[in-house]
Amino acid sequence: MSTPAVVLRRIARAMRGMNDLAVEKISQESRQDPFRVLIATLLSAQTRDPVTHAASTRLFAVADTPQAMMALSEARIAKLIYPVSFYRTKAVHVRACARKIVEEYDGRVPATMEQLLTLPGVGRKTANLVLILSHASRDNICVDTHVHRISNRLGWVRTKTPEETEHALYRVVPRRYWAEVNLRLVTWGQNVCRPVYPRCGACVLADVCPKIGVTGQGR
Ligand code: SF4
Repeated sequence: MSTPAVVLRRIARAMRGMNDLAVEKISQESRQDPFRVLIATLLSAQTRDPVTHAASTRLFAVADTPQAMMALSEARIAKLIYPVSFYRTKAVHVRACARKIVEEYDGRVPATMEQLLTLPGVGRKTANLVLILSHASRDNICVDTHVHRISNRLGWVRTKTPEETEHALYRVVPRRYWAEVNLRLVTWGQNVCRPVYPRCGACVLADVCPKIGVTGQGR
């Protein structure tokens, strides 16, 4: 088994030319605006990247500040973000988040994990990504289902939930890579180490990966 540092460097080289992730794109397009990164991350849950990016772009064309967002109705937000998954629930969370930011945080997205977790619909994945992308934190690892799955397949961790994985990864990944783990493993998970039928034959990690739990491979 290879070390996380070696694996992450290999992925960084191999992912050149692959599409940027939707929330990364929104972050770049908005100059790391914490509000837009927060909302785009909420929309991205269980939704394909092109759908997330298009829905975020439509929504931000109408409202790109907490003040403007809380002035919209939930029904309007739902219509703008359709067809992201759970669009009605997400619309409720988006509006409630905007309102809480205005009323309790003076219109600014909080910059601590503790405060971010008080926002409706925000869990550790979203909070970590906002801290990394918009508050330039190097002290967080953002773990979603891709990071959770691939970390287990590689044998870095043996965990049952993304939250367990996050805490385990702080112990096995060198600190200088923490902020990069999400971008690299999510890109890898979307393109190569897919949930079902991972493309091990086309994977630059095939010689070092124990492929734990992999039962079938795709092309
Ligand atoms: S070798 Fe297979 S299981 Fe391992 S990282 Fe690559 S695609 Fe995933």
